Amino acid sequence: MTKTRRSFFSWTRNLMAAGGVAGLAPAAEAAVPTVDYYDKLGVTKIINAAGTYTALTASTMPPQVRAAVEAAAKSPVRLAELQQKSGEYIASRLKCEAAMVTAGASSALTLGTAACMTVGNRAAVALLPLEVSGLKNEVIIQKGHRYGYDHAISNCGARFVEVETLDDYEKAFTPKTVMCHFFNAAEHGQISREDWVRVAHAHGVPCFNDAAADVPPISNLWAYTLMGFDLVTFSGGKGIRGPQNAGLLLGRKDLIEAATWSSSPRDETVGRGMKVAKEQIVGMVAAIDWFLSQTDEGMQAEFRARAERIAARLKDVPGITREIFVPPLANAIPHLLIRYDQSKVRIKPLDVSAAMRAGTPSIELNPATGRRSGSAGLPNAQDALIVGVWMLQPGEDIIVANKLREVLLKAT
Ligand SMILES: *Cc1c(COP(=O)(O)O)cnc(C)c1O
Repeated sequence: MTKTRRSFFSWTRNLMAAGGVAGLAPAAEAAVPTVDYYDKLGVTKIINAAGTYTALTASTMPPQVRAAVEAAAKSPVRLAELQQKSGEYIASRLKCEAAMVTAGASSALTLGTAACMTVGNRAAVALLPLEVSGLKNEVIIQKGHRYGYDHAISNCGARFVEVETLDDYEKAFTPKTVMCHFFNAAEHGQISREDWVRVAHAHGVPCFNDAAADVPPISNLWAYTLMGFDLVTFSGGKGIRGPQNAGLLLGRKDLIEAATWSSSPRDETVGRGMKVAKEQIVGMVAAIDWFLSQTDEGMQAEFRARAERIAARLKDVPGITREIFVPPLANAIPHLLIRYDQSKVRIKPLDVSAAMRAGTPSIELNPATGRRSGSAGLPNAQDALIVGVWMLQPGEDIIVANKLREVLLKAT
């Protein structure tokens, strides 16, 4: 046998051993070893006792979602068909007229704004963001709702008009008004959601609600579109636990269609860089199925039980008080707030965070720990530790509790 023939036969034998040539691909793939690239790259895996913070990679996908992503990765499809059918499915599950998967809530803000600026005028899509002088481009917003995601809106060439009172709001409309924007978890601002929608609609202007971080409760996924908001966004990688680079844009059919005009794969649009791959689209749909299979009571009880288990292990720390609190709107799930007698336990909350981070495994407490103000709804924790329990994996609550106990008792 020649060398070539021999290597051909051994190649065939290997293929047969791995599951054969035709139609048996899954068996062949099962033989592929999993490489842990975090380990290979030397990246530290953490215990997330913080919450759904983007810088900490937010949430982890449940097994059902990971399996759907994995399955989607195997087959090419026609992107337009996947976008359309996933949008219809999401809209039917979330009780809204239309929906699309975006590359996160921030992308949804950009695409939704682009939609309001171009609806009924597709040729205008290519004018954003620089040549908008002939387009409506004023976005009305309450002064107290200005926030870190403003850029996602101004990226379209839109500019903000700030209002404070209901009277200001009524008087702020001009022929250039294109959208009224609402930040759902804002801690300031005196105009209610209902008034926001009513006045906008009286002027024929669409309104957008950014509710990115505001599930659970599950019913928020339809509460705001049913309230009359024309567009609503949720982040896919926070409480819903889809892919971190996915999100939802929900709302009026004509606006969702106009949002697709400005998005990938279409070139010469503000959204071309906000590409959502098939894996993320499918992962987002699977995450909605997973999230809707949960109950608010079940999630709250599980998170409360974790917080209680951690609290119980800290009972002999001098002067300790342990409080479970639920922020009012964003991240509205049980968090554990811990205070202790700092004259007896001589370590500052920020130093506790640092010690937890430096340990093995490395643990991240909620970033509001030791700070006067955190993200929406978290209390002043300048003298306190905050443990966010909802992104912990099974069993990690005990690891967090034991390490906290060790760090605090060591300082006595
Ligand atoms: C997290 C967040 C966003 C951005 O969400 P991504 O999915 O990360 O793009 C936008 N708005 C608010 C209020 C948020 O909390």
